[in-house]
Amino acid sequence: MTTAEAAYDPVTVDTIVVGAGIAGIAVTAQLLRAGSTDVLVLERAADIGGTWRDNIYPGVACDIPSHLYAFSFRPNPDWSRRFSTGAEIQDYLRGVVRDEGITPHLRLGTDVTDMTWDDHNQNWLVTTNRGMFRSRVLILAAGRLSEPSLPAIPGLDSFSGPVMHSSTWNPDVDLSGARVGVVGTGASAIQLVPQVAAIAGQTTLFQRSAPYVVPRSDALIPSADRVRFASDPAAVTAHRERLFVDAEAGHTARVTAGAERDALRSVALHHLGAQVTDPELRRQLTPDYEIGCKRVLLSDDYYPAINSGAVTLEPSALLAMDGNTAIAASGHRFPVDVLVFATGFAATRPPFADRVRGRDGRLLADHWSEGMTAYASILVAGFPNLMVLDGPNAALGHNSAFVMIEAQAELAVTLLRRMTSESVAVIEASAEAERHWTEQVDVASAGSVWLSGCRSWYVDERSGRLTLLWPGTATNFREALAAVAELPLPSSRENVPATA
Ligand code: NAP
Repeated sequence: MTTAEAAYDPVTVDTIVVGAGIAGIAVTAQLLRAGSTDVLVLERAADIGGTWRDNIYPGVACDIPSHLYAFSFRPNPDWSRRFSTGAEIQDYLRGVVRDEGITPHLRLGTDVTDMTWDDHNQNWLVTTNRGMFRSRVLILAAGRLSEPSLPAIPGLDSFSGPVMHSSTWNPDVDLSGARVGVVGTGASAIQLVPQVAAIAGQTTLFQRSAPYVVPRSDALIPSADRVRFASDPAAVTAHRERLFVDAEAGHTARVTAGAERDALRSVALHHLGAQVTDPELRRQLTPDYEIGCKRVLLSDDYYPAINSGAVTLEPSALLAMDGNTAIAASGHRFPVDVLVFATGFAATRPPFADRVRGRDGRLLADHWSEGMTAYASILVAGFPNLMVLDGPNAALGHNSAFVMIEAQAELAVTLLRRMTSESVAVIEASAEAERHWTEQVDVASAGSVWLSGCRSWYVDERSGRLTLLWPGTATNFREALAAVAELPLPSSRENVPATA
């Protein structure tokens, strides 16, 4: 026992889940449903919800249909819109936490600073700002869109106005009449730009790359449908399944050039042509890479905000600040009062990897020095009894994150249940299993649109590998993980040192 441990006397539990966002909620709900009650969920923030707690910028909403952006085991008959607002999703998640009995297991305001595998005791020692814990199993559900990525902008210190990232929005900053500079043109930016432009005096948008944007066609869900969904749970399930099948159809355009991709591209370019009248502006807003390489965005008010003149499009990156003047890469200068960075997240290099030590004290960040890898998306060689949710190759561009997260949570809970029933103390992917899985991912992603040359957070800049996205369909992912659940429990005996 270390000195620190002697002082704090670790609390011992069977399973620790780090993070109370969608993934942490999913796996905890499944654990509790399976009868595992010795679970603690450590969450550094003061509330649950992850992305949907943090992102409160004006216009924040989801671009996956509401009934598909929900747990299959906890449908919500009462979604108000086709595409839910961030606040409605956060309310839904709060309801799930309450109704699934997760609340007593939550430890909010608990920041995990170190997670170290103890080979002698065969458990994890978890250090937090609120004491130490030991657990047989550690489930990392710390999110992939949780750490803002801010570009290093020379001269930013000389800017005297408020600076916000899309995920650290401060509603107290008064934008009315202000000159606002927005950096970035991804999914977050296209939602907030029209809202900001409606109240700001002038909005300047720094666009490094133009996105593809297709119609959103949001609408209220008719009350007759909501009444029907409330009285007939099977109708909600059937509706969700239809939405799932529709979304899956979007995968073909991503992996193969051909009619589907051509059709998607022409929908986007027609949308641009219909909403932006000035040919020069249209040219600047036309992407110079293949559609699908980055997330295809949905909006009906982004182009009109630019077309109306309320937004000045600067078709180059923000290069530097000189006091309250923003300098674009083109050399153009713009006076600004407020700066908004909609510049995405540290997704390929998750900061939690610097806090996890596996066998022989090896850092997860070192294991992932060329990019994230895993076996079955959730198990990492050299890190016994660790499961990483929403980590390597676990995201999708064409379907709902809930589907992917549920598949991982189901595998995690099945493996834990089998460890108990088969009296296995330790599971771990072998290096060979991880390498084989990674090779399969590489084969499936070769030639796909994601590797066609654009800059995106799906691809690790160190290796050029597709590390965030699963290259197949959501159905393939479910099937691949379900198959792993049937195999003998993963063991790395060949890798275990003789002393272990
Ligand atoms: P993002 O997709 O990573 O976009 C970041 C944007 O910032 C890009 O346009 C990028 O330009 C730009 N950028 C980065 N550094 C820059 C610099 N130095 N100068 C100028 N521009 C710079 O981030 P995001 O928009 O926050 O979205 C992240 C993910 O969150 C999405 O892909 C999606 O999965 C999720 N999201 C979902 C929804 C939804 O409705 N479901 C809404 C918001 C977010 P480049 O393109 O040139 O790199």
